[in-house]
Amino acid sequence: MKLFQDLKVIAAAKRRLAFTFLFFPDYVDPLTRKKIIVNDDVVTVGTGVYSIPCAVVWPCGSIVINNAANTASPAVRSAIIAHEVGHIVHEHHKVITKKDFFLRLLGNKKQIQWELDADAYAASLGCKEGLVEWLELAQKVLGPKREIRLRLAALKSM
Ligand SMILES: [Zn+2]
Repeated sequence: MKLFQDLKVIAAAKRRLAFTFLFFPDYVDPLTRKKIIVNDDVVTVGTGVYSIPCAVVWPCGSIVINNAANTASPAVRSAIIAHEVGHIVHEHHKVITKKDFFLRLLGNKKQIQWELDADAYAASLGCKEGLVEWLELAQKVLGPKREIRLRLAALKSM
């Protein structure tokens, strides 16, 4: 079962992180000037997503992307990073809770609005095409999701 498999992957990433010395190499993103850390386990635990390029922003404001995002096309990588910076600009990273994480999985309205706000910010930096490319990939790999459908519709109407 897909959900059971996902939970196993997330739990394994969590165990690895608990025993990893917390030194993560980083670089500065040229578009947003933000420090970017690359680590698969952090992104898997933080988002539950591991099979596509993905990123997460820590409560302290650090952006962590997975290797798939790091090696994605420049357009997709920039879009993913700019989207996370959008969360920082809107200060979502300061107030997100475990409850938000699960509500988002259920397609809750508030969490989807956060994603739309972060997407709008990324689009304002010129990342609209990269975001559309990434969301279409997400839809293909993760299956149809209400959140992705709404985000694509919002981007295409911009
Ligand atoms: Zn987001």
